[in-house]
Amino acid sequence: MDLFEYQGKQYFAKFDIPVSAGDVATTVDSAVAIAESIGYPVVVKAQVRVGGRGKAGGIKLADNADEVRLHATNILGMDIKGHIVHRIWIERASDIKHEYYASFTLDRSEKKHLGMLSSEGGVEIEEVAKNNPDAIARIYIDPVEGLTPAIALAWVKEAKLHAEAEAGTVEMLLKLYRCYIEGDCTLAEINPLILTPDGRIHALDAKVSLDEAAAYRHPDWASFEGMESMDERERAAQEKDLQYVGLEGNVGIIANGAGLAMSTLDIVNQVGGKPANFLDIGGGANADRMVDALTVINDDTSVSVIFINIFGGITRCDDIANGIVQAMSRVTLKSPLVVRLDGTNAIEGRAIIKANESDRLTMATDMLSAAKKAVELAGA
Ligand code: GDP
Ligand code: MN
Repeated sequence: MDLFEYQGKQYFAKFDIPVSAGDVATTVDSAVAIAESIGYPVVVKAQVRVGGRGKAGGIKLADNADEVRLHATNILGMDIKGHIVHRIWIERASDIKHEYYASFTLDRSEKKHLGMLSSEGGVEIEEVAKNNPDAIARIYIDPVEGLTPAIALAWVKEAKLHAEAEAGTVEMLLKLYRCYIEGDCTLAEINPLILTPDGRIHALDAKVSLDEAAAYRHPDWASFEGMESMDERERAAQEKDLQYVGLEGNVGIIANGAGLAMSTLDIVNQVGGKPANFLDIGGGANADRMVDALTVINDDTSVSVIFINIFGGITRCDDIANGIVQAMSRVTLKSPLVVRLDGTNAIEGRAIIKANESDRLTMATDMLSAAKKAVELAGA
């Protein structure tokens, strides 16, 4: 789960990472009211889950209410790389002496945490990596050993930050690492990390991704679910705990297991169709899961056929078949179904489908013929 900047800053604040005081607004008037209470100068910042907002005109300094009004009017509703701005964050503007970059993320191939620190902040790190790779000091952190003050200091020296920034940056990195570990982040990035003229180290931006597998131990994360930027279909699927990704086509897909679901997308493409979605109902799927999955796909107005591709393992094909038949009586399906069942109890499952076959429900024995049938129906 990627957080908006303002949520990332709220998260940082829990770990004592210095961020500027501010508040979030969805209207021009409330932006002005927030600015008036904070005091000028302020920064008006577009809240979208994508970088490069500054370059796109989504970050503006304002010295008075009129300027806040102007910038808020321009930024609200702005399209930044396909993300529409619904919220802006207003914070007290900082004076900048130097801009740095700091982040922690997981390097899966090294099986260690990767820390990156650079004296060249404020620009996209990919740019620095391309144009001046030596300007990024990388360290791999053993998860058991952790980040010690001594390691952090050596790292800061290697990154050649200004001498006056060293002590503050060490302290900042230790806090950011704690946030990354204890806060179960998969990414904790500050760009720019700034040195102020009065010698403080401060986080001017926040890019935080949370590890959803750890959500069970963070009940407070519920407040971060800013779902409005999510695809309506994905939101419905998430509420039902289904692994779903919305796509552009008209062949709705339900499969069990991520691998089979992806193969199903491939084969539909291969026979000339366009998948409307990826949907994995998971292992141990039962009738209720099937009803949930069918409901989500049925609500997708671009779907004209639903291809159900199940390989029974723990999941039994007869359970799935019963689920399909039940779902058809519980939900008025707008599109015909093409079903392919294989694996555990496939024979029983197929018999159940066969007994209920109609022009709304077609049985196929293998994946290829099922895909062809689905695509044929989709085109009709
Ligand atoms: P991004 O472009 O999406 O990464 O947005 P950032 O929050 O990183 O802001 C982009 C740039 O705007 C920063 O690198 C700063 O140069 C500038 N900026 C942001 N906040 C302030 C501020 O409080 N004061 C000043 N002077 N510049 C700021
Ligand atoms: Mn930034």
